[in-house]
Amino acid sequence: MRVGFIGYGNMADALASGFVGANVVKFADLTMCNKSNVERRESFRARGGTVVETARDVTEKSDVIFLAVKPPYIKSVLDEVRREISEEALEPKVFVSVAAGVTLEAMEGVWTTHDQKPPAIVRVMPNTPCLVGAAASGICKGSTCSEESLHRALALMSTVGVCKVIMESQMSALTGVSGSGPAYVFVLIEAMADGGVRAGLPRDVALELAAQTFYGASKMVLETGEHPGVLKDKVCSPGGTTIAAVHALEQAGVRAAMMNAVLAAANRGDELA
Ligand code: NAD
Repeated sequence: MRVGFIGYGNMADALASGFVGANVVKFADLTMCNKSNVERRESFRARGGTVVETARDVTEKSDVIFLAVKPPYIKSVLDEVRREISEEALEPKVFVSVAAGVTLEAMEGVWTTHDQKPPAIVRVMPNTPCLVGAAASGICKGSTCSEESLHRALALMSTVGVCKVIMESQMSALTGVSGSGPAYVFVLIEAMADGGVRAGLPRDVALELAAQTFYGASKMVLETGEHPGVLKDKVCSPGGTTIAAVHALEQAGVRAAMMNAVLAAANRGDELA
């Protein structure tokens, strides 16, 4: 499979590195174009990928094309593709937009406003842990996208983590949980490490223990299938250290803070749409 990237910044690099790391493609199968950032172009070329100048070139050289520019530029790069490449030539290809808030209707509108049939387009909301094969993503398909094209994109995304098929109306909610979510966890890991340092641990030890604790607890939730409340109850002995800490978290309103964080990101996603 030949995979292309129109726009190659942080997200595209995380995806490309994840796909290569998962052995589904080699860098030689990848093509990208990027308006700025010479360093990214040079390192992509050095790893064996093909760097081209335009969205048209990326599209022509790829079967699956990731749209990974910032949201305001999505429609203009698609319009470039529409003007330069015929509907027939686009037929076997699938476009995968990772742009927050840009709807399928808006992307397909680039073609429909000219009475042309849009190509297969899917929307994906990935997150940066795709770099380490542990993404939590969501995917939904446009009106002209076949199940086969959806599954081509889904299969690719599944090589770098979990990818859930959702309705487009749920995209902002998913952004609030997993799209933006790694940042919340990074903040919490840093805070937990700060607590460790405050209690007397060396910084590096505290940070590794905090990160490993998040990793281990997440693994337990995913692998045991037990409700996190049940797992929490199992480690809170009466009058013990853990319930004292849970009490402190509840007093600080940690649950409401996390729910508000998810809603803030979801609402912002709606505003950007
Ligand atoms: P970024 O700024 O790192 O990368 C965007 C790249 O697009 C830049 O390198 C820029 O040079 C290039 N570009 C701009 N206009 C272009 C054009 N016309 N043709 C070719 N290249 C062009 O941004 P990012 O963080 O990688 O985000 C890219 C997309 O990924 C956004 O739409 C964002 O909503 C989405 N996304 C990002 C994350 C994340 O964690 N960073 C998570 C989910 C979704």
